[in-house]
Amino acid sequence: MTDYQKVIDRIYHTVGPMWPQAKPADYIPALAQADPSSYGIAINTLGGDTFSVGDSHVPFSIQSISKVFTFAMVARHLGDRIWESVGREPSGNPFNSLVQLEYEHGRPRNPFINAGALVVTDRLIDLYPRPKEAILDFVRSLSGNPDIYFDTAIARSERATANRNMALAYLMKSFGNIHNDVETLIDVYCSQCAISMSCVDLARSFLFLANRGVNPLAPGGPERILTPSQAKRLGAVMLTCGFYDESGDFAFRVGLPGKSGVGGGIAAYMPGNLAIAVWCPGLNSYGNSLLGIETLERFTTDIGNSIF
Ligand code: GLN
Repeated sequence: MTDYQKVIDRIYHTVGPMWPQAKPADYIPALAQADPSSYGIAINTLGGDTFSVGDSHVPFSIQSISKVFTFAMVARHLGDRIWESVGREPSGNPFNSLVQLEYEHGRPRNPFINAGALVVTDRLIDLYPRPKEAILDFVRSLSGNPDIYFDTAIARSERATANRNMALAYLMKSFGNIHNDVETLIDVYCSQCAISMSCVDLARSFLFLANRGVNPLAPGGPERILTPSQAKRLGAVMLTCGFYDESGDFAFRVGLPGKSGVGGGIAAYMPGNLAIAVWCPGLNSYGNSLLGIETLERFTTDIGNSIF
């Protein structure tokens, strides 16, 4: 049996101190205040064990990791119909790029670049009369933590600087791929990105993906969130698109489906086995946590296991 605690302790104590500190995101002003020395790791296994080290209980801004949750909420209602409005190919472009949208007629490449996530959130607004409350309910239930909240200062800060996301939404609306008022959409999107969760919360919330779509820890007993086929598809899109134009390199180095956010978090999972979350706010040029990727690469290397 792998001693996961030993593995993450070793990574935390050897890699953490020697790794060069990178700069947190600052295009959303409130994110720039994150302490670049924060570092946490948490694991939840399907066998019911949890392991953690460092700042693993400290809530941080999950940003684009929220795109996995909103996608799951919409996919469970729309099924395959979601793929009419959003593709499932890597974009090869930065997460907030506008260029492909014009010549691809307002249909985003995938649900994890901002354009795709905006379409998904737009559908979520169609489906749920109180979308923000529904998103919070969903992550609270997946994580088993009723205290998860929106960090309103971060949401406000992003809302005040959301020109690019507004441009993406208006461009897609001109093609008929956004149904709702753009102001409302951006408000819900900035709130979902500003959800505060810890590594422990995130690892637990990703367990349903490791478990073929069933949340094993739901309060009333195991709860199906997605069908096995939907869970497979979501995992495939995370593997190919979860790290924007660094997705190929993440698959190469780590070998797990996962999703990053510009708050410095990464959540990933090993099907049939475990979910793992890492947080360190310093980012690389792709907007992914520098130490987070290094940690996960060492993790799968040390345990000698990945999806490959
Ligand atoms: N809220 C961020 C944005 O829209 C999310 C980006 C990210 O985490 N990659 O710019």
